[in-house]
Amino acid sequence: MLGRMMSFPLTLTHFLSRAAALFPDTEIVAVRPNKTLHRTTYGATVARAARLANALTRLGVKPGDRVATLCWNHEAHLEAYLAVPAMCAVVHTLNLRLHPSEIAYIARHAEDTVIIVDQSLLGLFEKFRAEVPSLRHVLVVPDAGGPAPEGTLDYERELAKERDTFDYPTLSEDQAAMICYTSGTTGNPKGVVYSHRSTVLHAMAACMADALGVSESDNILPVVPMFHAAAWGVPYAGFLSGAKLVMPGPHLDPASLVALMASERVTLAAGVPTIWIGILALLDKDPKAHDLSSVRSMVIGGSAAPPSLITGFAERHGLHVTHAWGMTETNPLGTLARLRRGMTALPAEAQLEKRASQGYAVPFVETRHVDEAGKVLPRDGATMGELEVRGPWVAASYFGGEGADRFTSDGWFKTGDVVTLDLHGYVKITDRSKDVIKSGGEWISSVALENALMSHPAVLEAAVFAGRHEKWDERPIAAVVWREGKSATDEELTAHLAKHFAKYWLPDAYVAVAQVPRTSTGKFLKSKLREQYGDLLLSKK
Ligand code: ADP
Repeated sequence: MLGRMMSFPLTLTHFLSRAAALFPDTEIVAVRPNKTLHRTTYGATVARAARLANALTRLGVKPGDRVATLCWNHEAHLEAYLAVPAMCAVVHTLNLRLHPSEIAYIARHAEDTVIIVDQSLLGLFEKFRAEVPSLRHVLVVPDAGGPAPEGTLDYERELAKERDTFDYPTLSEDQAAMICYTSGTTGNPKGVVYSHRSTVLHAMAACMADALGVSESDNILPVVPMFHAAAWGVPYAGFLSGAKLVMPGPHLDPASLVALMASERVTLAAGVPTIWIGILALLDKDPKAHDLSSVRSMVIGGSAAPPSLITGFAERHGLHVTHAWGMTETNPLGTLARLRRGMTALPAEAQLEKRASQGYAVPFVETRHVDEAGKVLPRDGATMGELEVRGPWVAASYFGGEGADRFTSDGWFKTGDVVTLDLHGYVKITDRSKDVIKSGGEWISSVALENALMSHPAVLEAAVFAGRHEKWDERPIAAVVWREGKSATDEELTAHLAKHFAKYWLPDAYVAVAQVPRTSTGKFLKSKLREQYGDLLLSKK
């Protein structure tokens, strides 16, 4: 027997009609390059999204066409997030931190036909524009206030020509809504095509109380860029809930972010560990300078949140961190580290271990880990294997059919993350498979060593990577960034680590660096460290 409920497609079009009907006065705040605040509302954003859809239609955008964005986080970017999918086209968020030739590759690969680009990013755009022949129109968002150059269209002028309403088509929920490319740390960037359905379900799951718990009364700050896995779906989750949205524009330095969180009474902010490491150092310097009492949670993901970061915020500033794991391929939220019933009675250290893990899967995401032969491993919290996931917002293939080996024949996606899983389903990432250190047949977790190093008072950041070794093949080397005015000897660091790890895990060498090299999405770029220091142990001999 079939159910007798309405067949109502899960599409982003509903986000627009809901916002217009229920939250027209809710605020959206965006920071401009000159640091002034631009204030608008949901009502105005819905109207402007309709104008954008009209303008794009006039410019010849057809169903399925890719409309690229090269933008910071701001209200016009949100307009594209909403209007482009709702008019049946596909929004393609370009990562402005990539090299121009990589951006060109990605834009060509996706066959972008129109691009919406911030005036403040035109310099970057001009470096690759000629390499993307599919681009027919360039819409320039005047974020920096000046006129659009020759050969481009002024976003505001184009919107001004149009009507406030658009006759959005009824879409199938399986239509593509957005394309995000992986950052290419594991080969060529690959396109992940989110559907309306996956985006809607993901937004609803993100809102659940045991996930991000987004509500109408939140003031949300997505620090994570809107070109990085849809800013983790935070703008969509916020918009669906009717929360106030606070968009940081290009100002992602700790001082600007803290000031914005204080002035806009931000309740929930999300970003990669680097951002929060910088913010914690700033707060430690002058704990009384900023009033962050409105903040109920800071979501950290993208790479492992060191336990010292979680305790540093909690113990010294009364701020709560929520650690989450995800990938571009998972829309991106997959797991989230919340304590379960009974765990709050555990000793502090055991609680921290859970909260610093990647947590357990959100509803509808399923997790397992397997050995090299694909055999499912026991959930004993100790056996390491590759994490595989499946669910309604997990990619089933890449755009163009590349990377087919990442999808198993029984319907799982191979994440490339090396993890343990425990009895309660908590995932703990020990490494990305390409970063794991294989010392004489034993695996050493670089993440575990990094976390322990970052709990040393002299260490601001640490990245552990594999150095080539004649006898053991690979041995750990640690690159360390000192806290301002502090340092420690190799022996001191080794003594600190020896409290937690077997002797063969301890790094064979330490190098002091001014900064850990990073990928375009803020992850440690260990290949660069290996290039630079990988032979250190061979020459040491
Ligand atoms: P890319 O795969 O191109 O680097 P993603 O942003 O999709 O870009 O990266 C996903 C990867 O980031 C995961 O596979 C994992 O290795 C890492 N990651 C994400 N969140 C966490 C986390 N909380 N802890 C540790 N690693 C994380």
